[in-house]
Amino acid sequence: MILLVTGGAGYIGSHTLIELYRAGHTAVVVDNLSNSNPESLRRVAKIIGVTEIPFYKTDIRDREGLEKVFSKHHPDACIHFAGLKAVGESVEKPWEYYENNISGTLVLVDVMRRHGCKNIIFSSSATVYGDPAEIPITEQCPKGQCTNPYGWTKSMLEQILTDIQKADPAWNVVLLRYFNPVGAHPGGTIGENPNGIPNNLMPYITQVAVGKHPELGIFGNDYPTPDGTGVRDYIHVVDLAAGHVSALQAIRRRCGLAVYNLGTGHGYSVLDIVNAFQRVNGVQIPYTIRPRRPGDIATCYSNPAKAQKELGWKARYGIDDMVRDSWNWQRHNPDGYPEE
Ligand code: NAD
Ligand code: UDP
Repeated sequence: MILLVTGGAGYIGSHTLIELYRAGHTAVVVDNLSNSNPESLRRVAKIIGVTEIPFYKTDIRDREGLEKVFSKHHPDACIHFAGLKAVGESVEKPWEYYENNISGTLVLVDVMRRHGCKNIIFSSSATVYGDPAEIPITEQCPKGQCTNPYGWTKSMLEQILTDIQKADPAWNVVLLRYFNPVGAHPGGTIGENPNGIPNNLMPYITQVAVGKHPELGIFGNDYPTPDGTGVRDYIHVVDLAAGHVSALQAIRRRCGLAVYNLGTGHGYSVLDIVNAFQRVNGVQIPYTIRPRRPGDIATCYSNPAKAQKELGWKARYGIDDMVRDSWNWQRHNPDGYPEE
């Protein structure tokens, strides 16, 4: 298939391109580079052994720009990663998040249908479950109250895409609810490249390891979890990327609407991650216990059985691989990608 990959220069998009090409697909990337660097695409091209990946520095809100891409490349399906994703920033700038993520997706979907491309895989998140009603979380678990505008954009876009598919059954919509993506391609040339001080646990740990911060702050050790720190379902980004290739099968068999959790089904605490990082990489991570972070929940991990049963997809990498590959990327690229 020919895939339009929005946000393909970003963290998950760049890893997904590798898996797509390995599976025999080709891709065209649209990204406005608001949170990424085109060097990621050059490195991806090197990994997969092509001269370049077709790339347009285009905003998904730019209808004319998207029209040109569709007229030239005629994609069969879109894997839609493009979006703003910083939880804290979304609380400060709700309008910008709703406008970018929701308006952008509405323009994208309109251009898609005008060009007869009615297949979309959407990057959703476990955040749509809110404080989950069941653990482990299955796809049947009711959606919950999000605690920030970013989360609401995911929840609302799931609803919008669901309604569009319902009104026009020619659409195939696959909603992928990611748990906590970490790690990097084992080669260490591509990885997560956060702007400013990282919000997420793993990039914070790797930046402590590389000496950018003196210590990690652990947000609370009084949760009702085995060691008191928050428990999450960390998934290696290469497994997550492979999940998108598997999700194309749902589109091939004309799934209509399909929803899948992409997680490992294992919950690890913050201290489990710190300990695994220290043990596997031989690097100490000093930390202090800080107050809980507003909006955080105690425990969140998936039941990934549906994706295994229907797509034959299962995470292959474990926690040791995740901490090893996160560190491998960071230590070889202490400042991320070079500034353009
Ligand atoms: P990322 O920021 O690395 O990648 C997103 C890409 O989209 C960036 O390259 C950015 O430049 C681009 N982009 C943003 N707005 C755009 C616009 N209007 N037009 C064109 N390009 C635009 O983030 P990521 O971690 O790779 O996440 C990819 C997707 O997965 C996002 O939708 C994110 O919300 C979702 N997701 C991520 C996580 C996570 O923890 N990383 C978890 C759940 C869901
Ligand atoms: N966390 C932490 N210190 C940090 C960043 C995160 O203790 O600097 C904790 C956070 O409270 C949560 C877990 O690590 O329990 C995962 O947080 P992250 O922001 O990576 O993911 P999410 O909150 O989206 O699950």
